[in-house]
Parts: sequence; structure tokens; C-alpha cells
Amino acid sequence: MQRITVFTARRIRTMDPGRPVATAIAVADGRIVSVGSLESMQPWLRRVPHDIDDSFKNNVLMPGFIDPHTHLRLSGTYMGLHYVGPIPSQTDEGPQAGLPDRADVIARLTELVNAANDPDRPVIAWGYDPGMQGGHLDRDMLDAISDEVPLWVMCYAPHIVYTNSPMLARTDITEDTTAHGIGRYPDGRLNGWFIETGAVGIATRPVRNELYRPGFGLAALQRQADVAIRNGITTVADLGWGLESFEREWDDHYTAVNEPGFPLRMLMIPFDARLVGKFGKDRFDYLDQMHAKSTDKLAVHGVKFINDGSYPSMTLQLNYPGYLDGEQGLTGETPWEDMVERMLPYWRAGIQIHSHANGDATVDMTLNTLAELQQRQPRFDHRFTVEHYCISTVAQGRRLAALGGLASVNPYFVHYRSLIHADSGFGPDRAEATARLGTLAEAGVTFALHSDYNLVVGPMAPLIAAWVAVNRIAGDEETVMAPGERISVDRALRAVTVDAAFVLRRDHEIGSLEVGKLADLAILADDPYEVAPTALRDVKVLGTIVGGVANLADD
Ligand SMILES: [Zn+2]
Repeated sequence: MQRITVFTARRIRTMDPGRPVATAIAVADGRIVSVGSLESMQPWLRRVPHDIDDSFKNNVLMPGFIDPHTHLRLSGTYMGLHYVGPIPSQTDEGPQAGLPDRADVIARLTELVNAANDPDRPVIAWGYDPGMQGGHLDRDMLDAISDEVPLWVMCYAPHIVYTNSPMLARTDITEDTTAHGIGRYPDGRLNGWFIETGAVGIATRPVRNELYRPGFGLAALQRQADVAIRNGITTVADLGWGLESFEREWDDHYTAVNEPGFPLRMLMIPFDARLVGKFGKDRFDYLDQMHAKSTDKLAVHGVKFINDGSYPSMTLQLNYPGYLDGEQGLTGETPWEDMVERMLPYWRAGIQIHSHANGDATVDMTLNTLAELQQRQPRFDHRFTVEHYCISTVAQGRRLAALGGLASVNPYFVHYRSLIHADSGFGPDRAEATARLGTLAEAGVTFALHSDYNLVVGPMAPLIAAWVAVNRIAGDEETVMAPGERISVDRALRAVTVDAAFVLRRDHEIGSLEVGKLADLAILADDPYEVAPTALRDVKVLGTIVGGVANLADD
């Protein structure tokens, strides 16, 4: 050890129950040497040359926040597309206002079609929100805008693409196609919908070059790294590695993390359907090879299964009585009856499984699968994780605990969407009980909070996630949704630090401030344990420290 840097602070919240608060943290070689006070760490400071850095002496330090489910690179596909979503958004042309409802979206698409000077070139838009903007689009509606210029509209959560007839004609789909996720009207005619990853992939082929423009991925990672600094985040996991290309995605991340000062650690979680498609039986060799290339900035982790649709685009799978309007939702690419056989090789290989389940029907299937995996081969410390866990029951929470599973939950929908979906999609009971974190806490399930940024409506802001989890205040800023599902401030902050690290099997390295761990911190203006719980979201984030190097947020 050549030299120690000691950061002093008004208070340090370590998330180490043995030493929950401190006022100084000593760092060398990117790792933590000691946590306590200037006095307690004297045995180190007497022996090793050191600098005292008082820059944060009036601030509060915490472990860097962890967002264990994001899609930062994929967000780059949106840059440069036309935006038709309901809330304001940044675009390449600057900030753009939201469009309140479907009629506004149709008017905007009409404008875009009229402005198009090349009728052969598709008009491509994203951000449509059927829940907030008054129902789905379909082929007939889009044909009414133009039956000549191809129209391609993606939802805010890219689980549905809507197309008109000229666009449909450019895909491989015909009226006889039976591919999974191709939408139809009640009379059997194609309705222009492409639902979920497999079908969205088919819809994407003819517009591939417009979505995956050269350099989009690296630019997106760099742009989102700034968002991470502003929100105190030092580690993220990408839950869709392989959706576009294993190699290109890895290369972009590798280039990004190797840029000096890049402020994020990133975990890549491969998507099973693409692993099987590309590597077949050799996929375990490929994963081994990539594990060997992992560093503490970029690492391969686990495997991901997508087993139903999304919450905001209302394509998840519900138990009785189902959707208000009789919608069915959709399953993922892997048939549910094959799930045990598909997961078993990973289970046997000791690989952690992350299973996307938004609706309660999907949670049931996932729990049945986990129970069957345990029957086939009992396994301890498997950390099988249900991803999203949006709509669930108390019984499911207790069963998840009994099976030793974990949950990585999107809590943002409680605030941003639950009132909308009381009367659109899911009905009042399920909308209210979105993200049952109180049940999980009571049952003893370890859980993390995530954003799914930026594939769904909402920010990537762990302190807002914690605020939602603690208060459950709906979009009207007044209604408390299922108050019994609220959790404590401590539990919520664990869910964005040390418990999130546990879910990613990185809690030996990150998530709390303890000797030997990586020196990753969030720099805050106030102590989240001391402000009123309703003010958690207002705690100002000043920046992060990653491996002992500070990154200040620019205002
Ligand atoms: Zn996701």
C-alpha cells in the first residue's frame, strides 16, 4: 500500500450493522482500508503516508447505490427516433413535451407522415403508452394515417410494436403466420401488433439500420453514466445481454468501462433465448470464456428468462379475474411447459437464474418452476431471483421465502402508474397492491429495488425508489396505495445498497462500507435516515465515488 486517502464526512452510513455510522473512511488502491473516525484509524495512518480529503466534510456518505436491473445501452436505440410518449422526454432535438392522449399521438404521426419526403422510408416513433394515452394503437388506426408510408410505433416499454399495412408488408409476416406474439383482431386478421421479444425482433428486422445506428450503444452508456452520477449509482446490471448482439454489446461496455474515470461498474446478464439461439450447447463454454474476461468494472453474471409482458404496456399475465377488458397478456418466448427443462442446465451448473415475472399468473409459474428445480436437484444459496414482481399475492411472497428465492422489484409503478391501472388493465385490487414489499419484508425475503431504466416510464433514481417503497404515495401525491405494504427507511435503503448487492451476488465486494470492499460511495447533502420519510426523494445527490475516485454531478 503506497498511500491512503481519508475522506471525512458529517456522517457516513455504512450499511454494516456492526458499525452503522462513521465519520471517516480510508481508501487505498480503490478499496476500503478502514471505516470509523480519524482517531480509530490511527494504527493505519501512523504506518502509511496519507492525505486527508475534507471535500465532503459537510456531506453524508453512503455505499454507492446499486440498480440491479437496467438497459442503459438499449436506451440508445431511442436517440434520434420520433417521440410520442405521454410525459416530457429528452430527445436529440432537445426536450420534448408529452402528448396527453391517443388523438394527440395520431395527430403527431399524421404530421410526421405529411412531412416525410420519401414515402419508402418508414416513420419510426417510440414512447407510446397505452395505459396513459387511452388504449392501444392498431393497424387500422395507423392505416387511416397512411396506407402508403410505413409506420412503426414502439411502446414506452418495448414490449409492443404497432405497425400499419405497408410496414407489415416489409416483415416476414403473412396472414397465415403463427409466430408467437403476432397480434390479431377478433376476426383473425393481423392487427399490426408485435408483442414481446421474439415478435418485436421480427418487427425490428426491416428497421434495424435506423434503430441500431453506428455508435449508438457507446453513446448511450456515456450519456447514462451521467444520469447514474446524478443519482448516486455506482453499479448497474444489464438484464438483456444478447438482445441485439452478444459481441457488440460486450464491446461497447468494455470500451466504456475502460475509459479513464468511467463512473460505473456493470454486470452483464445474458438472455437465455438468445444464448440458446446463438451458442446452443456451447453456451456454457461461451459463458466460461466471458467469465474469464471479467474484471471488477465489467463482469458476466447469471442468466435471464423473460416470462411475460410488461406492466405499463399491459401485456403481463394475470390470474382470475384477469384484465378489466378481457385482454390476455402474453408469455415470453420460452413456453411455460418447457421452463423446468430450460432452466435446469443453468441450475445444475450453479448459475443464478433471474426470472422476469410481472403478473401473478407468471409468479405462480415461476414459483412452481423453482419448486420443481429444487425437487430435481436440491440447491443451497441459489439466489433464484424473481425480476419485477409487480403483481403478486401475500401467499406468493411467503412461498418465495419458503423456496429460498429473492426478488428484484420495480417499485416506481406504485407512484407513476398504479392509479392509471386501477381503471385500465388490471383493476383496483391489483393496481393498489403493486409491488408488495411489506409482504416480502414480513416473510423474510431479501429483495432489491430497480428501475428497468430506461425501458419503462420512470426515472433511475434509487432515492425515489426508496421514497416510493417507504410511502407508497400515488401519482395524485395524496392516495397511499396499500399502506400495509410500506417498508421502513432502513429496509428501503438496504434494498438499493447491500441487499441489491446480495441479489447480484456481489455483496462480498459492494453494497456496504467495510474494510476490504471496493471504495464505492454516494455523496449526499443530507442523511436519508434523518429527513422526514416523505422527503427521502428530495435528498440531494452531489455525486459518487467509484474505486476511491470522486465524480461530482454537474448542476
Ligand atoms: Zn428489463
